[in-house]
Amino acid sequence: MTREFYLYNSLSRKKECFTPIHPGMVGLYVCGPTVYGDAHLGHARPAITYDVLTRLFRHLGYKVRYVRNITDVGHLENDADEGEDKIAKKAKLEQLEPMEVVQTYTLLFHEAMRKLNTCPPSIEPRASGHIIEQIDLVRQLLENGFAYESNGSVYFDVEAYNRKHHYGILSGRTLEDVKENTRELDGQSDKRNSYDFALWKKASPEHIMRWPSPWSDGFPGWHLECSAMSAKYLGEEFDIHGGGMDLLFPHHECELAQNTASRGKGGVKYWMHNNMITINGQKMAKSKNNFISLEQLFSGENPVLEQAYSPMTVRFFILQAHYRSTLDFSNEALQAAEKGLAKLMQAARDVEALAAKGTGVNEELVALKEKVYEALCDDLNTPIALSHLFEAVRWVNLAKDGQVALSAEDLALLKELLVVVMTDVLGLVQEGASEGNEELLDGLIEMVLAERKEAKARKDFATSDAIRDRLKELGIQIKDTREGTEWTMIK
Ligand code: ZN
Repeated sequence: MTREFYLYNSLSRKKECFTPIHPGMVGLYVCGPTVYGDAHLGHARPAITYDVLTRLFRHLGYKVRYVRNITDVGHLENDADEGEDKIAKKAKLEQLEPMEVVQTYTLLFHEAMRKLNTCPPSIEPRASGHIIEQIDLVRQLLENGFAYESNGSVYFDVEAYNRKHHYGILSGRTLEDVKENTRELDGQSDKRNSYDFALWKKASPEHIMRWPSPWSDGFPGWHLECSAMSAKYLGEEFDIHGGGMDLLFPHHECELAQNTASRGKGGVKYWMHNNMITINGQKMAKSKNNFISLEQLFSGENPVLEQAYSPMTVRFFILQAHYRSTLDFSNEALQAAEKGLAKLMQAARDVEALAAKGTGVNEELVALKEKVYEALCDDLNTPIALSHLFEAVRWVNLAKDGQVALSAEDLALLKELLVVVMTDVLGLVQEGASEGNEELLDGLIEMVLAERKEAKARKDFATSDAIRDRLKELGIQIKDTREGTEWTMIK
């Protein structure tokens, strides 16, 4: 915990030295998915970004409470206050009860996240499980004079709020900017101003997701859940609030306004936003036919894809860009990531097998280790950290070829980088082997290779070739070199 960590704060728009509210502990809240469809490439980026952040903090000795919600009510189609609830719409289409939709897609989301080797959040609250907390918050906002009731719905009074505070502080807008970019009211609306946002919506007779409240049978507004649940599980002031850049406005702006209007303070010390993934330069959208689900990515079953990409390839590809930069998906980029990852993984296996030679400590390796941590602690600069890890790969290969002698201390440094940092912090693991059975897999392959070596020694080439072919079918490629037989996972 002696190492300083610098984090870019979207609120101050600069990098700040991270100091937790409670020493040694980090409270992290991340806006999770609205579960009405397959987990896709867009879900993978925040999941991996906040996973690496959590892993790094834990690695540095912090205790992390990572809360990521599931939005299962209140997120309307156009992300504002109109249109159908996304989940209710899907339920109608598939003739399911809305909570069946939620359950189906939550399980699929978890499965995809598990394949990407992301740690599950410490708490995963659902919006529909926190209606009471949300109603309490609406009541508080009404009491404080920052909300009004209209025909059974309750809206946040942006004008009243902006007289005392600054609406737009997070996204760098003024109320004037917001006014200019909001559609005029159509005369049907219960709102006083078009830019006011819903805290509670009265349900129309056909709306199936509804709860009783002091104002009407209805449902909470989308922004409300995160203000209510973050305070419940992390306290009225907590360290980091994360999410995708697309949530900065209106979602996080509204959350900040709700927090301030109800409790007098914004409640979040550092706001953190990951950038978006584009596909061949375009925003991913169902309407553009460039929508790729994670399952399709892993199986290759999508016309956009030239091949299947393994979960670790996707993870590595995402870590190759800084989380605040845009990242463009293309087959070429993924194929390059696949090759890069294979090199890292091979070196991670090789370093375990290297024998120490000589004594002393190689100062270049000491400096390399420092550079890796510096990059990670500089606003999670994973691309720079990875470039230093490739430098570690170079050292392993030099040692393998007998061009340098590395002492036991040197090898320990390389192992810390290529095994510990890679697995514990970056979450990159040998493909096809979970952390638990990696050793077992290594052992079994070594055994099979020894068997093959014996066959070759007695000139039984039919057997040695059959072993090679069978391994290949199983996704393990072997290569005979002067030093012995090397193997790599190819799927
Ligand atoms: Zn949220």
